Amino acid sequence: MDEVKATPVTTADSQNKIVIKNLKVAFGSAEILRGVNLEIPPNTITALMGPSGSGKSTILRVLNRLIELYPEARVRGDVLLDGQSIFKMDVIELRKRVQMIFQIPNPIPNLSIFENVALGLKLNRLVNNKKELFQRVKEALEKAQLWEEVKDRLNAPAGRLSGGQQQRLCVARALAFNPEVLLADEPTANLDPENTAKIESLFLELKKEMTIILVTHFPGQAARISDYVAFLYKGQIVETGPTKEVFTNPKHELTEKYVTGRL
Ligand code: ADP
Ligand code: MG
Repeated sequence: MDEVKATPVTTADSQNKIVIKNLKVAFGSAEILRGVNLEIPPNTITALMGPSGSGKSTILRVLNRLIELYPEARVRGDVLLDGQSIFKMDVIELRKRVQMIFQIPNPIPNLSIFENVALGLKLNRLVNNKKELFQRVKEALEKAQLWEEVKDRLNAPAGRLSGGQQQRLCVARALAFNPEVLLADEPTANLDPENTAKIESLFLELKKEMTIILVTHFPGQAARISDYVAFLYKGQIVETGPTKEVFTNPKHELTEKYVTGRL
């Protein structure tokens, strides 16, 4: 397949929150990402779509440098965050700015609801005293639209929450850092329709304050809440553009098949 350059959705690097430049990732001899170019404007939701195995999670793992935990991964190309290469940043600082949530909600189940959100703030010494800590945890839980449901049982183990609540707790844990970017890897794949709707409306609220990259298996979800979509196939971006445009007038045959549920 020919390499297709992603359509820039805005022009200058500096106007984009994230610019991915000719990103290539190989695991041993297996080339997983084969020259990905993608530009992501601030305060938007970009849906990263594509069949299983196309490299979506790998892209997210590059964006917060989790990929470095895989010793066999070889990464080439560059990723700019506000015009600066993420590979030249302190990795801890990067991960405060670029937070991630996963398909299976992963709070620490035996730790209390409060402590799940507080832990990162404490370990990174981001608060000066208990009062400030409480305030930051409360704010994060409020922004994650979970506060009202848990305010009377902050000391209960996180594992007792429902799946949907656990996912919003993971969002709160991410929000405690006031991140600029939220990476979400199929965050509703394990949730029922009601909790899925809650996460979707939460993301629409959050994008006012941050940039969201949403990996999703559900074309309907991308259509409902994303501003832009990028369609990945076998490690290359096949098509990008404003969501409405890609859904109503897909330019690539693979995208058309995907958005109509035939791929
Ligand atoms: P997606 O999220 O789109 O389903 P992934 O990014 O998880 O795709 O994976 C893309 C490809 O990379 C898959 O074929 C997967 O088997 C392979 N892959 C992922 N991680 C590793 C690894 N640590 N070692 C070898 N291959 C891997
Ligand atoms: Mg994946």
